[in-house]
Amino acid sequence: MHLVIIGNGITGVSCALEVRRLRPDAQITLVSNESAFHYSRTALMYVYMGHLRPQDIKPYEDWFWAENRLALVHATATTLDTAEKRVVLDNGTTLAYDHLLLATGSESRRADWPGQHLAGVQGLYNLPDLEAMSRDTHGIARGVVVGGGLIGVELAEMLHSRGIAAEVLVRDAHYWGSVLPPAEANLVDRQFVENGVSVRYRTELAEILGDAQGRVRAVRTTAGEEIACQWVGLATGVTPNVVLAKTSGVETDRGVLVNEFLQTSAPHVYAAGDCAQHRQPAAGEVAIEQLWYTGRMQGETVARSICGQPTAYRRGVWFNSAKFFNLEYQTYGQAPAGPVAGIDSFYWEHPSGRAALRVYFQAEAPAAVLGFNAMGLRLRQEVCEHWIRQRVAVAVVMAELGKANFDPEFFPQHEAAIVAAFNRQFPEQPVVLRQRKGLFARR
Ligand SMILES: Cc1cc2nc3c(=O)[nH]c(=O)nc-3n(C[C@H](O)[C@H](O)[C@H](O)COP(=O)(O)OP(=O)(O)OC[C@H]3O[C@@H](n4cnc5c(N)ncnc54)[C@H](O)[C@@H]3O)c2cc1C
Repeated sequence: MHLVIIGNGITGVSCALEVRRLRPDAQITLVSNESAFHYSRTALMYVYMGHLRPQDIKPYEDWFWAENRLALVHATATTLDTAEKRVVLDNGTTLAYDHLLLATGSESRRADWPGQHLAGVQGLYNLPDLEAMSRDTHGIARGVVVGGGLIGVELAEMLHSRGIAAEVLVRDAHYWGSVLPPAEANLVDRQFVENGVSVRYRTELAEILGDAQGRVRAVRTTAGEEIACQWVGLATGVTPNVVLAKTSGVETDRGVLVNEFLQTSAPHVYAAGDCAQHRQPAAGEVAIEQLWYTGRMQGETVARSICGQPTAYRRGVWFNSAKFFNLEYQTYGQAPAGPVAGIDSFYWEHPSGRAALRVYFQAEAPAAVLGFNAMGLRLRQEVCEHWIRQRVAVAVVMAELGKANFDPEFFPQHEAAIVAAFNRQFPEQPVVLRQRKGLFARR
């Protein structure tokens, strides 16, 4: 069996490793046009910031691939012939396959802004982007970041780490308005303020202005304000990379369309990770998942189907995490940014503004817990997932909150303060915190 995988990101590599485990005899070829070896995309920022060297973000040593009989091809797949089961590469090679996985990831989304093609204007997705950013921000005084999401804050932090003034334009009234409730967004805003990053909310980009050499010199906002800068980072989201699928007659919409087994419309062709769009996502799940851990899960799941053990993909309880400068963020389950009928929430914030917890639960009895937002606290994933899956009542969760503390030895314990705040907000169902040995030993 020859499996050809287009894309050596987390999805493609997870699939390759799982197939190798299940089918020691399989021939596996990974094709990528970005890098010869797999690297961790989420760690790109740390290379720019000087915390890691480029070789540090490769999770596997270079000898690992040959040792595991995983053939690596550094080239672009240009045409897929699904009838003949062949893929043509831009280096002139043609690969015959028995099964093919499209794991082509995403690409930065760009609206049609005048001036977006000027030198010094870019997104951040891949290694060429990192190289361009390193080159074009060298010695500059100010960069403008467009977009109030996760990559926007990363770009601001990256500029800040090199002493470059960062100006962030955010369309919403607060940071990451589609995901974070205003209270949590305020905590992120405090991080911006403390790190000297200027953020303009309710501000949209209208135009990017260039100089005589074709380099960016300023941006103009829709309010008509001109902000001088020497670099612009566009962080307005990503979109599935469907180029190869689309030109090869594989059915696409926003992403490559797949069923629950991650099969595309073409026989023996699968798609997984950022590039895939689920035709029928399960209730509460999204059609396109652009996350590191869902890439890994999809890659491992599709491997089983490829090896003759058809396995439907189910993500389970939603989870995500990020870091905003020094503030860690975790979210589990349903955690809407604004009010939703039938869902209530309890919010606690530490007076320092460096920690907060929101617990979402059913407004009606039995007040089953639905989700969590944690800022500056580390919760145990398996405990939160268990509570959500078992629909445990919020009062029980509060009483047992210490179970979710990631590591009581190392992380400050706020359970007593959280439960006291809960009892003030919901006096009709007072909770007594069940103490565990050592639970309140520190702070
Ligand atoms: C800066 C940044 C920070 C992020 N931080 C987080 C985070 O903290 N947490 C999180 O969960 N997610 C994060 N993400 C998202 C996460 O990295 C992605 O969801 C994940 O990497 C997607 O993996 P993938 O394998 O599906 O695709 P990719 O990693 O995009 O890999 C696809 C590869 O296929 C190659 N390719 C495409 N077409 C072809 C072709 N025709 N021929 C050959 N090669 C091709 C591409 O060049 C690319 O190398 C971040 C993303 C970025 C850009």
